Formats: sequence, structure tokens, C-alpha cells
Amino acid sequence: MEKPIYPTMTMRITQGYGIGSHRNSFAIDEAGANTGIESLRAPFTGIIKKIYTADANEIWLESIDKVEYPDGTIDYMTVLFAHDNDVSNLYVGKKINRGELFYQEGTKGNVTGAHCHIECARGKFTGSGWYKNSAGYWSIINGKAPEDCLFIDDSIKIINRNGYNFKKIETPKPTVTTKPVVKEEKIKDNKKLIFTCIKKGIYAIELNKGDKLYLE
Ligand SMILES: [Zn+2]
Repeated sequence: MEKPIYPTMTMRITQGYGIGSHRNSFAIDEAGANTGIESLRAPFTGIIKKIYTADANEIWLESIDKVEYPDGTIDYMTVLFAHDNDVSNLYVGKKINRGELFYQEGTKGNVTGAHCHIECARGKFTGSGWYKNSAGYWSIINGKAPEDCLFIDDSIKIINRNGYNFKKIETPKPTVTTKPVVKEEKIKDNKKLIFTCIKKGIYAIELNKGDKLYLE
């Protein structure tokens, strides 16, 4: 099951949720590594459910399957992205794979400085996707704090996490090769046959200090 990944390789949150134009919402602004335009990847494998070009080129990406939330909740997730200057490569119904770069920071809509406005929500795309909240801002339906939805990993460089603690995806541990069980057999010169290869391939074995290998 997919764990939604934070969409930029560099985290630099320039505006958190609950303040300014993010009042009464869980919206964040992500500005990436620098003032330039950075691409964003899909947090999960999803389908584009809506594109709204009349404002900030908002798109809603809904997960194809249920995903795992950092607290262990299993449910669908929908994420709203805004400000890409050009979404002509996207269309409703388009499938985007997890990790695929599909959206960009930009300045479309009433903003200064290239960034991406991101809002996460629990569940599937609902109604028109958003509602006008009590502070007068359009906000995703069923919004949820980004750190309660998205994971980070060691590849993400964090410049500013705005005080939010994102759960880290564990790096998979390397598989330990088990010591092969071999039948010892005495051969000439007091050497012991330890292994007879039955199939061409690359083999790895674990050795203890002092072990000796003989190959014929
Ligand atoms: Zn914003």
C-alpha cells in the first residue's frame, strides 16, 4: 500500500496553514529549493479529477487506491495543487504514477514568487472539490494537515518545515544473505568440497572469520 510522499525534493514551506490567506484551512505554500520553478511529483498514484484554469490552474489528484496515512489510517486521499503556469499537459481522467513529476511551481493566480499551494484531504474527491471557508478563501473539502498525510524520506532536503513534523519512511534494510547449507565431502589433497554449483548465476554467501573457500 502506498505511503504518500512529500511532493518536492526540497522542502521550503513559506506559508503554513491557519494564517493569512490560509486561515481556516490546512493549505501550505511550498517554494522549493530557490526562487526558480521546481517540479512536483505525485504523492501517490492517482487520477486527476478536476482542473480549474479560471483561477490558479488548480488541479485535484485523487488516489486510485486507499493509501496509508502516517497515523496508520487507511483511506483514499485527495490533494489540491495550485499556481502552475501551464497545465496544458494535464486533463481530467489522466493517471499519474506515484513519484511522477507532473506539476510545477508557478505564479498563476493572485500570487508573487513561484511556489505551489498544496492542500491535502482525507477521502475521495467530493462535490466541487472545494468550498468557500468562513475566512472567505476557497479550500479543499475534508482538508487535513499535510504532516498527517504526507511522509518524507532521506532524499528530501529540508530547508524549512515550518515547525511541522513529517513522519519518515524507513529506508529498507539490506537483505542478509543466509549462510548456505552445504554438504562437506572429502576430496584429494585433504581439501573439502564445500559447494557444487548447479546453475549459472551470481552467488553471495556469508563467511565467518577464518573460513576458507576452495573453488575448482
Ligand atoms: Zn497558498
